[in-house]
Amino acid sequence: MAQVAVMSPNGEVNKIDKDSAESAAALRQMAALMLKAVLADKYDGIRLGDAVAEDDQFWVDSDKDDQQVSADELEGLEADIKKLAKNDAKVEFVERDVNDALADVKNDKFSTELINDHAKNGKVAMYNLGNAYAVAEAPILVYGDVVKNFKLLSVAGAYWKGMSSNPMLQRIYGTAFYKKDDLAEDLKKRQEAKERDHRVIGNQLDLFFVDPKVGAGLPYWLPKGAAIRRTIERYIIDREVADGYEHVYTPVLMNLDAYKTSGHWEHYRDDMFPPMDMGDGEMLELRPMNCPSHIQVYKHHLRSYRDLPLRIAELGMMHRYEKSGALSGLQRVREMTLNDGHTFVALDQIRSEFAKILKLIMSVYKDFDITDYSFRLSLRDPKNVKKYYANDEMWEKSQSMLKQAMDDLSLDYYEAEGEAAFYGPKLDIQTKTALGNDETMSTIQLDFMLPERFGLTYVGKDGQEHMPVMIHRGVVGTMERFVAYLTEIYKGAFPTWLAPEQVHIIPVSDDKHGDYADQLGAELRAAKIRVNVDHRNEKMGYKIREAQTQKVPYTLVVGDDEMANGSVSVRKYGEKEQNSMSKQDFMDELLADIASYSRA
Ligand code: ATP
Ligand code: ZN
Repeated sequence: MAQVAVMSPNGEVNKIDKDSAESAAALRQMAALMLKAVLADKYDGIRLGDAVAEDDQFWVDSDKDDQQVSADELEGLEADIKKLAKNDAKVEFVERDVNDALADVKNDKFSTELINDHAKNGKVAMYNLGNAYAVAEAPILVYGDVVKNFKLLSVAGAYWKGMSSNPMLQRIYGTAFYKKDDLAEDLKKRQEAKERDHRVIGNQLDLFFVDPKVGAGLPYWLPKGAAIRRTIERYIIDREVADGYEHVYTPVLMNLDAYKTSGHWEHYRDDMFPPMDMGDGEMLELRPMNCPSHIQVYKHHLRSYRDLPLRIAELGMMHRYEKSGALSGLQRVREMTLNDGHTFVALDQIRSEFAKILKLIMSVYKDFDITDYSFRLSLRDPKNVKKYYANDEMWEKSQSMLKQAMDDLSLDYYEAEGEAAFYGPKLDIQTKTALGNDETMSTIQLDFMLPERFGLTYVGKDGQEHMPVMIHRGVVGTMERFVAYLTEIYKGAFPTWLAPEQVHIIPVSDDKHGDYADQLGAELRAAKIRVNVDHRNEKMGYKIREAQTQKVPYTLVVGDDEMANGSVSVRKYGEKEQNSMSKQDFMDELLADIASYSRA
């Protein structure tokens, strides 16, 4: 097997297999250093941050007094790297005197900080390539001649050291492979992912926006995004009510004491917004989860065994203080609305209730045409005492009960230690995103802890008080993550029942056919169809094309014939031909399509 020479940050050189993940990382680290070298060469006075290889890419941070490096300059930089690769690019390891190293970078506060961070006993370990030096942080290829199949992908702002209180630098992303075909395949995948990226589609279709200036991670749902969300909300409430859930509305703010009782304050504080001191001794907290709220609903009445299972549900808004670097469109936000539910059960009802919830989830997935998912049993990490409520017996019992419930249903699952909630183990239903990442959408969690902490009881058949068990569950997860996910799997072409605009009506001539189009629009609206009439003074071909790029399921063109016959000319999304049919036939087809939940 072919081998390559790789240098460790301590200067040691070893030969390793070219096919290994370590060797791919070292290649990308080398490409990053080469990019750093050409940047230093090309732009006088440029300040340079980290050069990092991470996952399947690499990046270099930079900062300039004038214009930052832009996407237009990437091709030129690629050519410079290629030149460098042909020029016997070779990394040398040097232990420099810190003062010498600092003298070289005296106008560059980022390099200065990096050197100071890594200085040891007046020395700093560095990689040297041509005129460029970089602090030795990760293994790197010794020879740069193999850096041929690479691509500089994009530029984007990134905070120095990932902290939003620090200055924003310009981050250049790239990727590199040993083989040309591997690069081509990777670029194809990236292109595909970009086309599916819900942030890109969300922008094209005008679904939502997030503006860090008015609040990072706080999304604004625009009318079209709101229409999708409203449809999902109505759907899921109907499904749950039919399944015996009682929907409630509860406040987003709660007295901090409740979160102290629940254990959130002890185990979950890092994810919570700081409490609001009301000045009169009252401390209010934005809820990060809805469980304590639903517990209050449970406690409001005396409960008996006849009430169980008691299923309390809500589209509950909650706030979590996610790190700014982790925020992403609607996929990871700081304000979110969870399709949440808490079922309070007697011990002997756990199995059947668990199966019932799972059945609901799988049936809902079917309606949304979600087929690629797997089951993850999320267990505690017994060593992590800070994160998990300490009660070995409780954990053993609940974890084995969950496993038993899965075995009962003969469903395959894999186990993940350290992924449990702090109060109990969970079954997470993992879906695949367009980028190929696993993410948790739905979850069912078993909890013996909160009922105990809040002193929940019910009167049993025996007339005695017993403690119920709580099952936390989310079916479609948060509206935010779910819509992000659907946007990606549908590539923005939402099935008719979800499409924000279901029908787009284009009069051939607005003067002659505008009124007929409006009348048609009104009839459809009366049947609860989301419809727009396009009165704009644009060419018909343009309007039809635009309805296609907006991925509207049905475009109707109405002119003289349609007006005379009371008919419509229908063009379905993604199809070339246009069909003429009576208004009634169209309406029947449309309503059947909506009722079927099926994809275009
Ligand atoms: P994650 O590991 O993704 O942070 P979690 O394990 O903290 O999620 P839960 O507390 O189980 O998540 O929350 C229930 C559901 O809320 C998750 O299944 C997921 O769909 C969704 N969710 C969690 N955090 C966010 C977020 N920051 N933005 C959008 N949706 C989220
Ligand atoms: Zn809960």
